[in-house]
Amino acid sequence: MDMNSANIEEIVRQVLSDMRGGSAAAPAKAPVAGVPATAHVAMLTKLKQFEIKEYPMPAVGDDDILVKVEGCGVCGTDAHEYVRDPFSLIPVALGHEGTGEIVKMGKNVKKDSAGKPLAVGDKVVTCMIFQDDPDITMYDLNKQNVGAADVYGLLPDDDVHLNGWFADYMLIRKGSTVFNVSDLDLDSRILIEPSAVLIHAVERAKTTGILRFNSRVVVQGCGPIGLLCVAVLRTMGIENIVAVDGNPKRLEFAKRLGANATVNFNDFKGGVDELAGGVKAAFGGYLADFAFQCTGSAVAHANIYHFIRNGGGLCELGFFVDGGPASINPHFDLCAKEITLVGSWVYTLRDYATTFDFLKRALAIGLPVKELITHKFPLSQMNEALETNLSQAGLKIAIINE
Ligand SMILES: [Zn+2]
Repeated sequence: MDMNSANIEEIVRQVLSDMRGGSAAAPAKAPVAGVPATAHVAMLTKLKQFEIKEYPMPAVGDDDILVKVEGCGVCGTDAHEYVRDPFSLIPVALGHEGTGEIVKMGKNVKKDSAGKPLAVGDKVVTCMIFQDDPDITMYDLNKQNVGAADVYGLLPDDDVHLNGWFADYMLIRKGSTVFNVSDLDLDSRILIEPSAVLIHAVERAKTTGILRFNSRVVVQGCGPIGLLCVAVLRTMGIENIVAVDGNPKRLEFAKRLGANATVNFNDFKGGVDELAGGVKAAFGGYLADFAFQCTGSAVAHANIYHFIRNGGGLCELGFFVDGGPASINPHFDLCAKEITLVGSWVYTLRDYATTFDFLKRALAIGLPVKELITHKFPLSQMNEALETNLSQAGLKIAIINE
């Protein structure tokens, strides 16, 4: 009997101690009301292979925000990672064009990066992460280009795993920038990140002093970026836009987004001077005051100087990745014409806030910006979504959760 009592006491002590030990670690596994115990992440586990992985729902720290993901756009960067992992991130949770609803917030989280109140139920997007300098706000600005910071969807994997928007839950941690965009619908929110690239490019273009109300503007390349470029220019009152591409369907869409003429380069087989003649004719006999180069093609970069008048300007934003060197003739293309050239790379926090207004304005003036999203896939079809992106069958491909 004594032995039994001793054993029972020992067992009880053990159980109590386990519970205490457990309770120290318990917050990490503490269930959030209405939130499942596990999250699902589409992990790129090797080249051309996403796998849906299940992880315990992480703890929500005092500075964290747990978001139920509603959707995320597929970007050219995701396609590069899928095909050849140029950033050596595999295994990685991709997806940086995402948005969702706050389901839980830490007690220190009160406002978004623009000072707007945040609450459970609000719809949010993230921009860059400043692990080392969490106090940076959007008002610090223009020098803070996202190209030098981390973003969710392009982070190395860690024990939280909820690091990208191709998932059903995302954990936004301390040091991240987050925006309350509850006043935008889901499709518009998915278009925020790519649109911010164009807001930034136009801000860069404006520094030349050449881009003015009703300038003649060429937009070369009618993928999602070029098409958004047309829409951004149109919302800011520039109406004399000529879009250049080789795909008639995309050129037709460029017109609906605000281009008033288009040039299909396939109609001009006689070389760049003939093509430049086509652009000039599209402007009623004038060359462009300003041009936006939105393709990753070296030939397209070299050609575009021929579309610009003496004293005109050029913004090059198409080379998101190394597309190789382009050859121009510095005498004819730059010096003799006195071209003002600016490069543009991703965006700043301030561009993000401007982008929200752009999307509302585009909607208000009837531009069919949301039709850029041509294909929607559930999370379980990540691989199909990426293959569709690579096939160039559509424009913007999006993952939409239930
Ligand atoms: Zn992107």
